[in-house]
Amino acid sequence: MRFRHLPLLVLACVAGTASAQAPEDPAAIHQAILTLDTHLDSPANFDQPGWQITDRHDVAQDGTQVDLPRMIEGGLDGGFWVIYTAQGPNDARGYAVALAHALKRLHQIHDFVAANPQSFAIATRASDARRIAASGQRVVYLSMENSYPLGNDIANLDAFYQLGLRMAGPVHNGTNQLADSTNGEAVHGGLSELGRDWVREANRLGIIIDGSHAADSTFDQLLELSRAPIILSHSGPRALHDHPRNVDDARIKALAAKGGVIQINSLFLSPNKPRPTVDALRPRMKEADSLPPSERAALMRQWAEANVAEPPSDTDFDRYMQAIFHCIDLVGVDHVGIGADWDGGGGVIGLNQISQIPKITEALLARGLSREDVEKIWSGNVLRVMAEVERVAGK
Ligand SMILES: [Zn+2]
Repeated sequence: MRFRHLPLLVLACVAGTASAQAPEDPAAIHQAILTLDTHLDSPANFDQPGWQITDRHDVAQDGTQVDLPRMIEGGLDGGFWVIYTAQGPNDARGYAVALAHALKRLHQIHDFVAANPQSFAIATRASDARRIAASGQRVVYLSMENSYPLGNDIANLDAFYQLGLRMAGPVHNGTNQLADSTNGEAVHGGLSELGRDWVREANRLGIIIDGSHAADSTFDQLLELSRAPIILSHSGPRALHDHPRNVDDARIKALAAKGGVIQINSLFLSPNKPRPTVDALRPRMKEADSLPPSERAALMRQWAEANVAEPPSDTDFDRYMQAIFHCIDLVGVDHVGIGADWDGGGGVIGLNQISQIPKITEALLARGLSREDVEKIWSGNVLRVMAEVERVAGK
């Protein structure tokens, strides 16, 4: 019995009152299972003056995709909240600036959780997620996109671990002191010596290693060197679109063979399209935070409208699902998950804010996957990887 063709209002009534009698209802299943996205770039929004995660926003108004009201509506229990640092110069001053930025972001994450203890909780163990979600809070794991802020001192990884970090990737856009990036120069032929130390330290501490943004050579060495399974927190299959940020089938199989999981990104699934209005606005966006509030709000609206009018590509919801199905067909349901790069440029036509993610569950069920398999994709697989990372670290 399926309700998805009924009007939304009816669907909501059915989900709210009759879920016990209709456990096969996709909306009810989605709300019941534990759902985590492994790459929430939303902490980048914390710099916006007046922007509160507890307020409801709209992607068409301010360009943001995740907040508490939309998480509740979309049935997202939480995920890995990202400390993202843009790549800068690989020198002492660059490292110092990057470290200050990363620490600020880390504290912003702790601060929003501390300010909303009924709604959010920091998670540090694989077993925390289900307990936190069951108590009605949203799950906040900390993740680091680009380990450039660690500088030349791998001991800094321990400091971040003590402050809650449980997932980290060595690089972002541009090769750094640790590793070659997908779109940087091939300086190290993969990992540097320091990068190899970084892998050993991540394994020792119990931090999940994230190979998204790593060059193919880096990915191969991460996989070979790590004593625990690794993750691609937001990557897609190169079989759909030949882009360096995507991963070829052989590497996805190698990842799965070592127990890892690819969390499917919504970006890079089809060729980019020209975006003249968006590109023209980019220089002004860099100064947005220094504008008076009313000018800033107007600019954000303009930016949001331009992004809707000029999507980065023709990728739509069906193509996003195609990427997920491709990986399931390739390596099975135990090695695929969701990491759509929300608030980091992600979102596709028909799936553009977190309130819309029940569509993913509906499409997975329509494909014939069981509720158990759908829950593996939404959380079970990444938590299995995390538990294994903890076991390898002896924690
Ligand atoms: Zn990214």
